[in-house]
Amino acid sequence: MKLTLKTKLSFTIAIVVILTVALISLLSNFFVGNQFKNYIKGQQDKTTSQIINNISSQYDETTKTWNVNSVHTIGMNALYDGYIIKVYDLNKQSVWDAETSDMDLCIETIDTISNRMTAEFPDFKGEFKLNNFQAFKNNELIGTISIGYYGPYFLSDDDFYFLDSLNQILIGTGIFSLIISIITGFIFANQMSRPIINTMGAAKRIAEGDYGVRIKEQTNTKEINDLINSINHLAESIEGHEMLRRRLTADMAHELRTPLTSVQTHIEAMIEGVWEPTTVRLQSCYEEMTRITKLVSDMENLAKLDNDNLKLKKMNVNLLDILMKIISNFETEFTDKNQEVSISGNCTDIFADRDRISQVLINLLSNASKYTQDGGKILINISETDDSVKLSINDNGIGIREDEISFIFERFFRGDKSRNRATGGTGIGLSIVKSIITAHEGSVTVKSELGVGSEFTVTLPKNINT
Ligand code: ADP
Repeated sequence: MKLTLKTKLSFTIAIVVILTVALISLLSNFFVGNQFKNYIKGQQDKTTSQIINNISSQYDETTKTWNVNSVHTIGMNALYDGYIIKVYDLNKQSVWDAETSDMDLCIETIDTISNRMTAEFPDFKGEFKLNNFQAFKNNELIGTISIGYYGPYFLSDDDFYFLDSLNQILIGTGIFSLIISIITGFIFANQMSRPIINTMGAAKRIAEGDYGVRIKEQTNTKEINDLINSINHLAESIEGHEMLRRRLTADMAHELRTPLTSVQTHIEAMIEGVWEPTTVRLQSCYEEMTRITKLVSDMENLAKLDNDNLKLKKMNVNLLDILMKIISNFETEFTDKNQEVSISGNCTDIFADRDRISQVLINLLSNASKYTQDGGKILINISETDDSVKLSINDNGIGIREDEISFIFERFFRGDKSRNRATGGTGIGLSIVKSIITAHEGSVTVKSELGVGSEFTVTLPKNINT
């Protein structure tokens, strides 16, 4: 049986409270009961010595006689309290005897007390016992007082009433705290489970394709807030990828359709004899086909990197050397656009795949040139630490929109279409950069501001001893 979080929480809280209340009641009953017994025993000892004192004081040492009337009053009072008194003089002659005075009352007292005690405490082993005490007056022995009572101790009506009230208070407090805790437990369980249920609902809607869902609720539980934030983040990233996928399909269709339509209409016109198949026209068809081939080969390259076939042929290479060669190959491009390139810094060798690293630098440099207007500046800086080399390419070109930055390393992603159409890119360059750098266990990051420029930074481990 699967229980809901709310039911489980409510149950757990209720069970914990019931156990706590039961334990507290048991313990307090036990401790209070024990303390009470000790108190009663003490009281009984006090009463007995009081009775002895009271009776002893009824002896007149000058006449050597007892004031039997007073002894009778004391004895009868003691009998009402559950004590059966017998007083003997020095000659062991009875002065006063409770049983002789009122046998019925004595039997009734004994019965009432023993019945009450066995009814309340069935395991209690008690019995009526007679205890003999020597009676003194002014340090002179005057006789013997025998006191009989239910022992080791007994409880009076008042004592029982006190214990009952105590139990009632305990039970009342228990029931009251149980009700309060069940109510607060239910409210707490509701508060805990509500955001989780909402989050679950949102996750379900996301799974069904509603990527725009965001959970606005914030709670005061850290873990639940983290969960809400993770789900929101997940939805955001799925939404981004979904947008990218749609855009990618549209982009690819467009990229392929433009050259294909142009080649198709050219060839159609030539077949129908509308156009002479001149070298210029055939050359134009050839260029379009080259564009398509480039796109397909870029895609192939990427697929190769993806298939984990990225086997690196590592050797000792110097980033600055590679960079200088590439820049000299790009010479005409930079001159045509009147762009100024400057290099600063230096570095030692790293252990890497020369061709792949060249590919990375080509892609980054060609982007820097492509996305920088005529007369712009490209600054390259190389620096190193003990175990890594860092290369950054900074341009003062068109920059990247903030919301696009996180997608530029995605395959086929191209910045705002209208701005880039003329650059003739395929949106694959940076994904190749990322794959190669990741295979080298390095990192590539970007900082960019629209209309101000961009800076791509590649960090590669030296790994020179491996
Ligand atoms: P593309 O073939 O479009 O250049 P890339 O993968 O090389 O594909 O780059 C992806 C996108 O990143 C580009 O379309 C462009 O919007 C942006 N981008 C890359 N480099 C730069 C740069 N140096 N300055 C501005 N935008 C850039």
